Amino acid sequence: MGHDLYTTAITAGRPKAEPGAPMNVPIHLSSTFHANGHYGYVRDGNPSSAAFEEAIGALEGGHALAFASGIAALNAVLDMVPTGAIVVAPLHAYSGTMKRFMELEAQGRLQVRRVPMDDARGLAAAAAGAALLWLESPTNPLMEVCDIRAAVAAGRAQGALVAVDNTFATPMRQRPLELGADIVMHSATKYIAGHSDALLGVLVTSTHELHADLAQRRVLLGAAPGVLETTLALRGIRTLPIRMDRAEATARELAQRLTRHQAVTRVRYPGLASDPGSSTHARQASGPGAMVVIDCIGSVEAVERMCDGLSIWVHATSLGGVESTIERRARWSAESPDVPAGLVRLSVGLEQVDDLWDDLLRGLNSLL
Ligand SMILES: *Cc1c(COP(=O)(O)O)cnc(C)c1O
Repeated sequence: MGHDLYTTAITAGRPKAEPGAPMNVPIHLSSTFHANGHYGYVRDGNPSSAAFEEAIGALEGGHALAFASGIAALNAVLDMVPTGAIVVAPLHAYSGTMKRFMELEAQGRLQVRRVPMDDARGLAAAAAGAALLWLESPTNPLMEVCDIRAAVAAGRAQGALVAVDNTFATPMRQRPLELGADIVMHSATKYIAGHSDALLGVLVTSTHELHADLAQRRVLLGAAPGVLETTLALRGIRTLPIRMDRAEATARELAQRLTRHQAVTRVRYPGLASDPGSSTHARQASGPGAMVVIDCIGSVEAVERMCDGLSIWVHATSLGGVESTIERRARWSAESPDVPAGLVRLSVGLEQVDDLWDDLLRGLNSLL
């Protein structure tokens, strides 16, 4: 429709406007529908999830399909890749994504070339003969920035599909389909739903053909989402633009302050001019987002104690909710060995900036 994204987030995925029609698509708790209509069995699709898909598709500029989780969405894309094919995957990325690629490699299902996302030359070289490039930018949790246009060009030249995990940036900051990618993936569990109350994934494709192919795979992988989850995520989309604006403004301020704290040896955030990914990110995204990652001094125990001892920041995994969360990522055995023991991931939420800073400052000072 060509509306601004702030408007689209409000208007997309509504029932047809007519007298007496509801403002919102109802939660259709029905596993089956009367024969000979648009909907049949719920594993194939349902009207509540379709409303969410319409909205996220409009924001990303493509055709959306919701999945039971982000990982279910990843698996549907991997299902398209022929056995034995070469795929390019991030060396560092969301731990579940890395684990899945490594598993498929160990099983002999795929030949996986793992490349750091900020290595454009390495990506171009690895793309030779590949069927799929799976990108993530910025990466979780090292905040590496991938030059998406360059990777797309390398993939195109090989006839490879290019998919981008856009979970950290959201369509409010980065739209990979406009940069030439074929598929965008989200863990909608994070910013899209935005309230830490739903598990959900989504793929958005550049073409109807890819959408139809993936829709068939979703049916037979049994990866369709629940209607409560898609309804919550659509509600989340209504405030996604303003949540991102506020969280990002706070994140920018906190990132600046963190660069001056003696317990912090490095701040990883593409909104800092000193960040190695800042210029590439600025060429492809309209803002740095609200994930800030810091490398802290002190023992593992001291950093864990800091995370436990905060009162506003919630010590918890996951990200992208209204509440700010903090976590030492190396506490997970699936995390990359390249993630330093003292690396702490901050998901900046919507609380007041000085309240967040004072709380964090108390924790950081305990490391000195
Ligand atoms: C959480 C996350 C995923 C996995 O999504 P789920 O919804 O938990 O299955 C994938 N990629 C990124 C970047 C994530 O943060």
